[in-house]
Amino acid sequence: MDEFEIIDRFFSAPQRKRRDVRLGIGDDAAITRIPAGFDLVIATDSLVEGTHFLPGTPAHALGHRCLAVNLSDLAAMGAKPLWCTLALSLPDADVDWVQRFSAGFFALADRFGIALIGGDTVRGPLSVTVTVHGQVQAGSGVCRSGANVGDLVYVTGSPGSAAAGLDLLRASGDQIDVESDLVRSFWYPEPRVIEGMALNNLAQSTATSVTASAMIDISDGLHIDVSRLLGASDLGAELALDALPGFQADSALTVEQILFGGDDYELCFCVPPAAEAAFKKIVADWHCPVTKLGVARKDVVVSWLINGTPYDGNDSTFVHFE
Ligand code: ADP
Ligand code: MG
Repeated sequence: MDEFEIIDRFFSAPQRKRRDVRLGIGDDAAITRIPAGFDLVIATDSLVEGTHFLPGTPAHALGHRCLAVNLSDLAAMGAKPLWCTLALSLPDADVDWVQRFSAGFFALADRFGIALIGGDTVRGPLSVTVTVHGQVQAGSGVCRSGANVGDLVYVTGSPGSAAAGLDLLRASGDQIDVESDLVRSFWYPEPRVIEGMALNNLAQSTATSVTASAMIDISDGLHIDVSRLLGASDLGAELALDALPGFQADSALTVEQILFGGDDYELCFCVPPAAEAAFKKIVADWHCPVTKLGVARKDVVVSWLINGTPYDGNDSTFVHFE
């Protein structure tokens, strides 16, 4: 099967039509239309076999993941997803593999109504690059900077789960078809698209409006990414490690996985204290855990507390990021 047959069979047909796509797959380029009064938000992420995913990763999971990590970037800006492109480098035209990849990709794309409008297919080492386009009301994207002293710092989900899943996979050697919630959270990260939009005053099910003062998605690890978030506003905080779901007694996560594990794709954000009541109403509609970690402060770095006592990292890997 050549490049054109692959595109035709697996990437042209299944997508939902969008009226703002004037011209989709099949010409030299796509043409889209953005409504007046909106800004376009664009993000790209590449996944290379051996660097960003393990050789032997199921194609369906990879199809999900390559879009999920990009949707997570849009979510962190408070943007609504619109369109995407997909650049695929494949070592050979393995039809079954491409079919499963495409099924994973479109299962997620269709859930958020995002249209695949183009891409490229070449022969080479296995790698996948997705570019996503989204929209925000003009001037309203939520940046990493913008937090103020006194803002409340929150995170979605259970940071560390993906790292724990990866550790399980590594420990399982050749048997990489391990079925567990942790492995699932590594293979199938759930981009917090609805939550990100709600934090940009786009909550769909309530009249309440909330805008986060600053937001980031956690991809490299909770500690480094929350440090980046608060650092962008020249702030820091003492944060409650023991408030996180992964710290609870029934959880299998280690402190190391929670603080330094990557690949979670959760949202970390700041809410002005005056917006806390409205925020709580919005959160009632969410399907993921939300944890209040602490309060943004001047003249401190990001550090962690357990029972109100500083956690100084008995784990030898603990490093303060100044
Ligand atoms: P060109 O040589 O003009 O770049 P291509 O043969 O690369 O054209 O692509 C033909 C059409 O198929 C274009 O619309 C392109 O965007 C689309 N396309 C190619 N690869 C993919 C892919 N992996 N996913 C989605 N669309 C693709
Ligand atoms: Mg091309």
